[in-house]
Amino acid sequence: IAYQQKLFDLVNYWRIHTPNAPAIIHQELTLDYAELATQIDLCARHLSAQGVGPGDVVALYAQPGLVFPVHLFAAARLGAIWLGLNTKYSPAELDYVLGNAQPKSIWLDATSLAHASPQVQEFFRTRENLWVCTALQVDQRSQLAIAPVGTAELTAEHVLQPLPSATLPSYFDMPPATPTALIYTSGTTGSPKGAVISQYALTKASIKQAELLNLEQPSIINNLPINHIGSIGDITTSMIAAGGCVVMQAKFDVPESFELIQKHRITLWGQIPTMFQLALAHESFAKADLSSLQCILFSGAPASIELIRQLRSICPRVLNAYGMSETVGSVLWVLDGSDDVLASTVGTPVASVEFRLANEQDQPVAEGDVGEIQIRSDYCFSYYWNNEAATAEAFTADGYLKTGDLGRQNPDGTVALAGRTKERFKSGGYNVYPREIEQTLNAHPAVLESIVVAVPDALYHEVGFAYIQPKPGSTVTADALKEYCKERLANYKVPKFIAFLHDIPQLANGKINRQALREQALEQLNSATE
Ligand code: ATP
Ligand code: MG
Repeated sequence: IAYQQKLFDLVNYWRIHTPNAPAIIHQELTLDYAELATQIDLCARHLSAQGVGPGDVVALYAQPGLVFPVHLFAAARLGAIWLGLNTKYSPAELDYVLGNAQPKSIWLDATSLAHASPQVQEFFRTRENLWVCTALQVDQRSQLAIAPVGTAELTAEHVLQPLPSATLPSYFDMPPATPTALIYTSGTTGSPKGAVISQYALTKASIKQAELLNLEQPSIINNLPINHIGSIGDITTSMIAAGGCVVMQAKFDVPESFELIQKHRITLWGQIPTMFQLALAHESFAKADLSSLQCILFSGAPASIELIRQLRSICPRVLNAYGMSETVGSVLWVLDGSDDVLASTVGTPVASVEFRLANEQDQPVAEGDVGEIQIRSDYCFSYYWNNEAATAEAFTADGYLKTGDLGRQNPDGTVALAGRTKERFKSGGYNVYPREIEQTLNAHPAVLESIVVAVPDALYHEVGFAYIQPKPGSTVTADALKEYCKERLANYKVPKFIAFLHDIPQLANGKINRQALREQALEQLNSATE
């Protein structure tokens, strides 16, 4: 299927080749490839009847379930742009995303809506072209049901019916560059940006990832929020590009994950490291039958060597993949690396992309130096939705994507991450990389975690401000830590200020909220000078 260029081609391919193989499972509901294709067609016609056409944005508010893949591919069939809304979004976040995206129609999953806060329910009440949907077992078949919002309960009478009058645009006229998904970034370094992903990019990225994973008809669990590139990638890569099966889990839950792995003989288990940590620390781990696993994949954040060793004892094939919304899937991989390589690097760039580490002038850095990871490929994101300024900053003059991540390449070709370009600061004319200082501080026996942010300085332009989370029960002074740094780092890297804190502010996705810490540091300094 390597020649396929559009998302819906993938569905069609497996509809013809393996019509009766399970494609999507959620609790007692199942869609095989033939039923999936039918539901997609019905869903596309309903969206069309709601006024959705090529180029329009359609939104879905749901947890992973049957509606998610059907709605996603129905949008692709129409040439519309699919937007997933995270059920964890606050009304303010929903307002931001919907205000920026301006969807033509919004479908709300009935169960997710019932569990939403009163504020979120109230928020949706002000929106137009709003529908409530679910998946039901009717006539021994899993089917989607839909009704105008406000309908008390969705029943058999609401299942999608053929709408012969609703027309679908010709699929053959649709160019592969047609936008198909709008993915808002996490907002770690500022406001979330809506990355527009084309049919071609998503299809090619999925095929490439399936080739690297090299699993025959993999079965996987998807429990990532549906707005995430990883959640879409779970479907398009494992199911579609390889004809496998995706078991939907509304949200991550340890005992349920173990049950699903055992029941569905899951072969590929992918999570962010925090979830793996929670799973292995859970009491149900001891009894879990994980013998079906052929591959464990972590991504999104680094994993400790202890965690990797534990994962390895469950399943010897452990992979680490690095990517982001903008690269449409993972572009650096540790495919077969030692525990140490898995823990300390994100591996090597895949052959299908061009890779370089660049300085602030977008020129390649000297061997072994820290630089921004820049990627040039024919399958990265197209542009940021309604955000020309961010789009202009995202690419270099010669067409490389500026990832905003810093890296250093080891002699063996593997790349170690070194923080973000936005964290880098200049002190007395030198580049300072907070990650390097944090690694030094973290090696101190009394330090559990440290975060270094930049604050303005009259003499040096900027200096480091370190926040220290001490290990429970241990005591250490700021002066002692400064002394410790001085022995190990060049003087311009030694943080000028050190403060202690017990809770590190985090974003919804578990990443450290550095912006909040920087603001806190500025406030602390201001109040000290007043
Ligand atoms: P924003 O772009 O809005 O600031 P974000 O970059 O955190 O938010 P995402 O696209 O969700 O939003 O996350 C991608 C980032 O996650 C990458 O740029 C990188 O910093 C980090 N990341 C991805 N994969 C890995 C990995 N395997 N190991 C370590 N970090 C990773
Ligand atoms: Mg980013």
